[in-house]
Amino acid sequence: MQDSFGRTIDYLRISVTEACNFRCVYCAPNGHVAPQTSPLTVEEIERVARAAVALGVSKIRLTGGEPLLRRDIVEIVRAVASVQGVRDLALTTNGFLLARLARELANAGLNRVNISLDTLRRERFAQITGVRAISPTGTSEAQPERQAGESARQDAFDAVWAGIRAAEDAGLAPVKINVVALRGINDDEFEDFARLTLTHPWHVRFIELMPVGANDAARELFNRHFISADELIARLPELAQSDAPRGNGPARTYRLPGAETTIGFITPASEHFCNACNRIRVTAHGAVCACLFGSNQMDLRQVLCENVNENALQELLARAIGSKPEQHPSGDDFAIHVQAMSKIGG
Ligand code: SAM
Ligand code: SF4
Repeated sequence: MQDSFGRTIDYLRISVTEACNFRCVYCAPNGHVAPQTSPLTVEEIERVARAAVALGVSKIRLTGGEPLLRRDIVEIVRAVASVQGVRDLALTTNGFLLARLARELANAGLNRVNISLDTLRRERFAQITGVRAISPTGTSEAQPERQAGESARQDAFDAVWAGIRAAEDAGLAPVKINVVALRGINDDEFEDFARLTLTHPWHVRFIELMPVGANDAARELFNRHFISADELIARLPELAQSDAPRGNGPARTYRLPGAETTIGFITPASEHFCNACNRIRVTAHGAVCACLFGSNQMDLRQVLCENVNENALQELLARAIGSKPEQHPSGDDFAIHVQAMSKIGG
């Protein structure tokens, strides 16, 4: 389906939970406040996927919050993968629970994963994510401090690395590593991240920091730590302009000489990629967001609860697609409508 500006919308991101076991400085530094309502069920997620596919969506990504905190995440993957017409089913995760789930997720029909990792150094990892160790079970909607005692805890940095390797072993390929670029925090590691593409079959995606949240702390974090993709690229002189395909996303991709995989830059702050926007989002609680940075949301919940004709669901999704703005607001205010990426589904 095309939106009002002629863009083909073929990509749906579904957040399956707002909960998270990490407290990343740029996303949920104070942890997660559990919402009053429960997230969409497996069946509701499948119905949303089916309706979206009927409108032309063929790529679906499950995200959150931390999607692997859902106890029924394997069933969710199986249900979405079973929808005829889903050609690419991906998931974005912080990786903590991935080691024990990767194989099951692959068997259920997941094609690939993006794993967020902003540092290759253990001490920094705790500083950025707000956690050092967590219970290996990572129960749904739970916060790290409410988990089992210290003895039962697992080092979070090691767990993420185990998750990356498990994803590779399970064939959830290509594995992509998402790195939020943070001046003064991880900007001395960009070269190390880039070099991972020489030694591993992983793609690396640098993401510009976004000033999400209309609060002083978010604004200050952005002012202190934002670094543009242009500056980042200038710091990586070995990059040769890549001829790799642009893929589904708005990433500018490059390749180091001799590397099999690519290094991408996602530039929501320094450069609009609205003209290439191909997506809509559904939040964990059933709101459709036509634009990540827009304030307009439509509620699917009512239609999902009443067991109405599936056409009603399709109509609502089609209306959301039709309401996509030509571009998101620019300037310093572009992300103030987003409370946190963990809420809207990053
Ligand atoms: N919990 C999962 C994870 O971290 O991969 C999935 C959800 S998370 C919201 C999805 C992506 O959004 C992550 O790669 C994260 O780094 C990114 N993200 C969150 N807040 C951001 C911000 N303020 N600026 C840029 N990227 C952000
Ligand atoms: Fe959790 Fe992902 Fe947000 Fe970090 S970026 S707090 S892992 S939802």
